[in-house]
Amino acid sequence: MDDCLFCKIINGDIPADKLYEDDDVLAFRDISPQAPCHFLVIPKKHIVGPADVAPEDDAIIGKMMRVGSELASKEGIADGFRVVFNNGASAGQTVFHIHMHILGGRDMAWPPG
Ligand code: AMP
Ligand code: ZN
Repeated sequence: MDDCLFCKIINGDIPADKLYEDDDVLAFRDISPQAPCHFLVIPKKHIVGPADVAPEDDAIIGKMMRVGSELASKEGIADGFRVVFNNGASAGQTVFHIHMHILGGRDMAWPPG
């Protein structure tokens, strides 16, 4: 999608600190980390957000979870990490290309803000 920030990262038009990439997904460090380890996992397919996931996307969403968890292990945060999907501006979504946040390396509070 032309004016989507994360599609531009996928296309290489905007640089990112990439952790993993294959034909389906891309993982990169968040530019404004909210924990000592904070990275995003995105599908290469442009999906706006969690509420826009269609049945044909089921496999890619599962793959995002697996890749994110494997990266959490590689990053040394497997003992405790937070997984976040924001859906909609009122929930804090600012980039409308679905992304899974993985945060770790510090104690996490509950409930989230
Ligand atoms: P959200 O608020 O859930 O939509 O999350 C969007 C995330 O994208 C935020 O945590 C931002 O810090 C992050 N972000 C924005 N621009 C970039 C970028 N160019 N590279 C990496 N992360 C970014
Ligand atoms: Zn996009």
